[in-house]
Amino acid sequence: MDFDVIIIGSGMSGGWAAKEFCEKGFKTLVIERGKDVKHIKDYPTAWKNPWDFEYKGYLPKETTNKNPVVSRCYAFNEATEHFFVKDNEHPYKQVKPFDWIRGYQVGGKSLMWARQVQRWSKNEFKSSSRDKYAIPWPIGYDDLSNWYSRVESFIGVAGNKDGLEEAPDGEFLKPWEMNAVEKYIQKRIKENFNDRTPVISRTAHLTEMKDQFIKQGRTQCQARTLCERGCPLGGYYSSTSSTLPWAEKTGNLTLLTDSIVEKIIYDEKLGKAKGVRIINRLTKKVQIITASCIFVNAATINSNLVLLNSTSNRFPNGLGNDNGLLGRYISFHNYRGKVNAKFNGFKNSYYSGRRPASIMMPTFRNRNSQDMDFKGGYMVFYTASRDNWWRETNQWEGAQYGNEFINNISKPGPWSIYMMMQGENIPIYSNHVTLGKEKDNYGIPIIEISVDYTKNDELMIKDFLNEGKKMLQAAGCKDITPYDTKQAPGLDIHEVGGARMGDDPDKSILNKWNQMHLCPNVFVADGACMTTSGTKNPSLTFMAITARAATYAAEQLKNKKI
Ligand SMILES: Cc1cc2nc3c(=O)[nH]c(=O)nc-3n(C[C@H](O)[C@H](O)[C@H](O)COP(=O)(O)OP(=O)(O)OC[C@H]3O[C@@H](n4cnc5c(N)ncnc54)[C@H](O)[C@@H]3O)c2cc1C
Repeated sequence: MDFDVIIIGSGMSGGWAAKEFCEKGFKTLVIERGKDVKHIKDYPTAWKNPWDFEYKGYLPKETTNKNPVVSRCYAFNEATEHFFVKDNEHPYKQVKPFDWIRGYQVGGKSLMWARQVQRWSKNEFKSSSRDKYAIPWPIGYDDLSNWYSRVESFIGVAGNKDGLEEAPDGEFLKPWEMNAVEKYIQKRIKENFNDRTPVISRTAHLTEMKDQFIKQGRTQCQARTLCERGCPLGGYYSSTSSTLPWAEKTGNLTLLTDSIVEKIIYDEKLGKAKGVRIINRLTKKVQIITASCIFVNAATINSNLVLLNSTSNRFPNGLGNDNGLLGRYISFHNYRGKVNAKFNGFKNSYYSGRRPASIMMPTFRNRNSQDMDFKGGYMVFYTASRDNWWRETNQWEGAQYGNEFINNISKPGPWSIYMMMQGENIPIYSNHVTLGKEKDNYGIPIIEISVDYTKNDELMIKDFLNEGKKMLQAAGCKDITPYDTKQAPGLDIHEVGGARMGDDPDKSILNKWNQMHLCPNVFVADGACMTTSGTKNPSLTFMAITARAATYAAEQLKNKKI
């Protein structure tokens, strides 16, 4: 064998697989389809000021016209565009509208993410069996809580121990602070709705230093909120600043960039996979690399693509896909409901600096039983800010630097409130991805995405728009405007499923250790493994699940069971 372990994908979750295997002494190969990104050196815009950019941070019409999909992502701009996959770079077919937002490079999307992290609650793991949707999760909160702790302690998570059943506490660093208006709204919501508790959001930022972070070569977050450019300080978690350099230090890591995994090769005699076939992105040279164990961490849809394309005599419909469910039950987060409002008080209060956090409220719907006309729950986020001065004065297009600008945004004045939902989307059979007949530049079938909202989402949006308005009214806000963005699925960038975990091999692709029921040395540990989407931002759970699966696989390797 060339390696003990191959990991497909070097992003948020692949970085964790690399750390766990390398620390345990396994010769590990991480294969990444995109370019190399070295921490610090390859963040070309990290220190630039707005006036250093040709378009002052915005993108010219030519770019946005050519890239309607990725342009809809709020984080895609002149300072970050080099980390995003452009619309024509890796085509896919939208059978139904789906904005597929991607980052193909070492670090994956861990470079551009918004860093909001929350643990799932006990109820979230149980609700699909309780309320009869999807299938039961084969694991619960207690199976994951130590792994959440392991990940939080290593990546650094700012948060407050709030004691909330629906958002379990973790290993937290100093929390970010709410401003005066956010605190006031929090107080009014708690007073008026005894099932709702807004708290400061939990973020993967180093708000204080510990030995563990110094050893990783990372520095305290300076709250610059320029994170999506890559942070030279390592102030937030990305695999490039944290897990990958950590794995590299062990001497056990090999990183192969610009190499697209076309398929996993199944060996009928061995009854398991023997390696992968890769195509060099630049030269199109094909190579086969062997290993005893394979981890698939290419991000949900690409992991499905690799598995569906891994056909053989034994598995003509994709690896481990005897039940035909591979690529099915894709779900996502429903971000359509938003509320804008104004707040007239606290005109003399101000806050200084920036803050990479907002206010989060765990779900207050369907917590212990289904008591709504829809299934699943939703989180609510809100912020109160004074930085909308230029909108108020219709000077949005004006310069956002210079003395005049600074003087104006420093003056006391009105506050703007922004509230949004993050709703659980219920996985259904018809929401799926499949391989099309068309091929990409490398001869690999392009993926066809057929994913849509259902009536359940519509009912949830209606409920949030009502409740959001009621909460802001109770908080004394004015000009409350609830609206439905009607955005397509995908723009939430929280797509999950397709190779779900479950105890029943007829109804799932992976067992409770993320191991394929039908191919024991292949593990899928990114979002593709998720049985349901829950209400929480997903990445902390992807990392915890990956660390748990890698530790299990390492034991199996050591005992020659796989
Ligand atoms: C703007 C933005 C904001 C976000 N905010 C949040 C947030 O606040 N909280 C949160 O939890 N999540 C957030 N996310 C989502 C988060 O980034 C993803 O959940 C996370 O990165 C997924 O981790 P992953 O390891 O599955 O995939 P990625 O981090 O995307 O890594 C996958 C890697 O696999 C590589 N790859 C793909 N196919 C192949 C192949 N065939 N061969 C070799 N390599 C391959 C890719 O190039 C990529 O580098 C956000 C994302 C974006 C873009």
